[in-house]
Amino acid sequence: MNQKLQERMKLESELRIAISKGELRLHYQPLVDLHTGQLVSLEALVRWQHPQFGLVHPVQFIPLAENSNLIDDIGEWVLRQACCDMQAWNKHGFPGVRVSLNVSLGQFRDANLAAKVEAALADAGIEPALMTLEITEPVLMQNMPSSEAMLWRLKNLGVSLALDDFGTGYSSLSYLKHFPFDRVKIDRSFIKNIVVNADDAIIAHTIISMAHSLGIKVVAEGVETEDQCDFLRRHMCDEIQGFFYSVPLPSNEMEALMMEGRRLPDHLLHLQKPPRTLLLVDDEANILAALKRLLRRDGYQILTAESGQEGLEILAQKSVDVIVSDQRMPGMTGVEFLRTAKGIYPNTVRIVLSGYTELQSVTNAVNEGAIYKFLTKPWDDDLLREHIAEAFRHKEMADENRRLDREVRMANQELAIANRQMEEHLRQKQQQITRTEVSLEIVREILQYVPTPLLGLDESGMVAFANDSAEALFARRGSLLGNDVRQLLPELFDAPGGNASTLGPWRIQRDNHWFTATMRPMGEKSQSSGKLICLTKCESNESNT
Ligand code: C2E
Ligand code: CA
Ligand code: CA
Repeated sequence: MNQKLQERMKLESELRIAISKGELRLHYQPLVDLHTGQLVSLEALVRWQHPQFGLVHPVQFIPLAENSNLIDDIGEWVLRQACCDMQAWNKHGFPGVRVSLNVSLGQFRDANLAAKVEAALADAGIEPALMTLEITEPVLMQNMPSSEAMLWRLKNLGVSLALDDFGTGYSSLSYLKHFPFDRVKIDRSFIKNIVVNADDAIIAHTIISMAHSLGIKVVAEGVETEDQCDFLRRHMCDEIQGFFYSVPLPSNEMEALMMEGRRLPDHLLHLQKPPRTLLLVDDEANILAALKRLLRRDGYQILTAESGQEGLEILAQKSVDVIVSDQRMPGMTGVEFLRTAKGIYPNTVRIVLSGYTELQSVTNAVNEGAIYKFLTKPWDDDLLREHIAEAFRHKEMADENRRLDREVRMANQELAIANRQMEEHLRQKQQQITRTEVSLEIVREILQYVPTPLLGLDESGMVAFANDSAEALFARRGSLLGNDVRQLLPELFDAPGGNASTLGPWRIQRDNHWFTATMRPMGEKSQSSGKLICLTKCESNESNT
């Protein structure tokens, strides 16, 4: 323990000087849009080029920095460096590159964070809309309830907000509604087994649906394989990030990648029509061969497997429409295999083709929806072909329904986004109104106590405002509001009931005091169209002149 502690202290003191020695580096990893297949933004990831240990990853020093106040300096360095790189990309012909930064717990608690971000963006001349701040779910949860105010402060700068590592903080999705996030990033740990673990698949699917219904986009983190990408495409995830497209790269290499303009292949994008694909599973090779020969003429892409296990492996790699499986196979029975397949790939149409009929297991599987049809061996060629063609039609109809559902959902998502924006506008308007009202009250109160009598007149010459001094001066008449000024101050008007031809000054006497009255038209700096009368008391020696 002692040794560990010493190592830690050494690393901490090294980190302290690493910043000034210029040992920090910023790498960038692309986020890719699943509609267009193109790079849409970059996440900045900090590294430490240690003289002895080489490139040190943030998991090894960010927690250390969090505990030792160094996080402020690192956060500030990352912010400035990212702005500087964005500025350089702008100059090199990549305008509008969007960059996300990670906000640590220490930074999120810093009351000056918004001001720091605003200053860095302004100094580099970067549009706030090009920057996204990523706040992890645990950081958000630890800071309740001040999180909400902080998020709004950041949002009001015009930057985007992303909820990072979603799924690790045990928050409920309904929380999302209260916060102004533009994106959620599904944590890497759920993506890892997304194609083999039904629970992870369901979690990801649910996050995507719910986020979309709230008008929030979804990014999947840690996408390493084509299968994961394909799964996410099929479940309408918006963007992916991970080694599959690119590892994090230094800024110059990132620039080269942007130059190359690499796109995801078309078959990994939303809304494309893949070939009709059939998976045949049977432990007898000759049956597989016979089926393949028979069905080839119908133009399907045919895949084969000799066991349920192998069938699952193929399903993880390829998008399959219809599965035809034998029932009696060593290891896993056909029904067991199709039941698992249903859990992970519920959209497949599943058929058992078997000479062996164990009624109970088959009826159960049919009743729970694991299989669509049960066909018997030996088969009639034409009938089997017809059944399979019918299964594809069934699948395509369901696909079409899902496509329509998706379109409706996307339209709803657009609507929800518009709605959120409108709510945000209204909220800002409301705030502005409140601020105006508050300052109005303050000004009114100040005027009230000014020791000089003041009268505000409307267009017709009625008193619309009178401060305390004015009320005191004309006390005998009751409240001044609504009185006609021509009666209160006839001296100001040439003829009784006429208009004042000048703006003064006039000398008038009230309560044995002399006053200088001046009139001023309003409307230069406000929407008022009335007049303001000011009565300044003359010094006693003046009053005799
Ligand atoms: P994160 O925000 O979840 O960042 C993504 C991490 O996943 C990065 O690790 C990235 O290299 C890694 N990654 C990306 N694609 C894949 C993939 O396909 N497979 C796998 N296995 N990993 C992938 P990295 O750079 O080591 O950063 C780790 C964490 O350190 C980040 O997690 C973030 O929370 C934090 N971090 C990084 N840079 C900064 C920073 O500038 N400031 C702060 N406060 N935290 C940072
Ligand atoms: Ca992140
Ligand atoms: Ca993350």
